[in-house]
Amino acid sequence: MKMQGSPWEFNEYLFTWPVHSDYEIIEIRNPIPENERMYWEGVIPLTDTLEVIRPCRGTKESLWNPLNGKTFLLTELAKLGEGFNKKEVINFALRFGILGIAGHWHGLETYFLNRDPLVFFEHEAKQAARLLRLYQAVQERNLEDLQKRIEAIFFNTSEGAMVNIFIDGTNIYDWPIVKPPVTEEILLRATLFYVCKETNTRLEGRLTMGCAAVTSDFMVLPGVKCDSLLTAAYIQFRDIVTKSHVLKRCKHCGALFVPSKASQVCCPRLPTIPGTNILEDKPACANRAYVRKHRKKQKEKEES
Ligand SMILES: [Zn+2]
Repeated sequence: MKMQGSPWEFNEYLFTWPVHSDYEIIEIRNPIPENERMYWEGVIPLTDTLEVIRPCRGTKESLWNPLNGKTFLLTELAKLGEGFNKKEVINFALRFGILGIAGHWHGLETYFLNRDPLVFFEHEAKQAARLLRLYQAVQERNLEDLQKRIEAIFFNTSEGAMVNIFIDGTNIYDWPIVKPPVTEEILLRATLFYVCKETNTRLEGRLTMGCAAVTSDFMVLPGVKCDSLLTAAYIQFRDIVTKSHVLKRCKHCGALFVPSKASQVCCPRLPTIPGTNILEDKPACANRAYVRKHRKKQKEKEES
């Protein structure tokens, strides 16, 4: 292996992820043992049965590096969160794999405890959609949208009136309690601060620094490893946030995406992961937008 570019550009994230050729949603009885319940409290309902997504038995596994490409996982996950349904979860899994943690991969017993009950998928997809919308509202300075989601609670202290800020009903812990008035700047900064906190929560303790590989000319490449597809998604989101990228809304489907060039108006066609059956499913939004425009023109012509 010859090294190209700086080591940090090359294989910075040495992390591969399994994608299987087929997935299924199954129901598991008595899913969460007593000692695991605390971990799941509030994330999934602790019921007697749990729907889980997993690779079908006997399917082919291929490995890919989700951080080695132009797909932004969080925007794809967020699309799922906007209108959650099981078919789309299977499609997501066929393309990217499932969200869970990389350990215990082969132990089927422990498998469902750590990875991708459907409710976990839904929870994370909605969270992704929520965070992206908040982030985007800040980028666009869309105060109307933010004001719907932010609540300022006033209270009195010995130093006078103070204000505590809540976003989507959650107090932004660590955000300093400030004196009124709640200015535009406070709204925007508090929101961004909240987006950072939520991102950090999903990265904390999930990355490992290490030596990634040795090249044919005895160079050791540094690397960062992460433990799950979800972590990979937030690594990418961190890049978007720290570089102040502005997302765009797809002209065709309305989903937020990361434009690769300024003129791009539709969300990108997704890659096919080598070795999987996916997916010549639907044409990219750009094609569909084109067809729609073409048909409309045709109709106008016929009518005139
Ligand atoms: Zn689209």
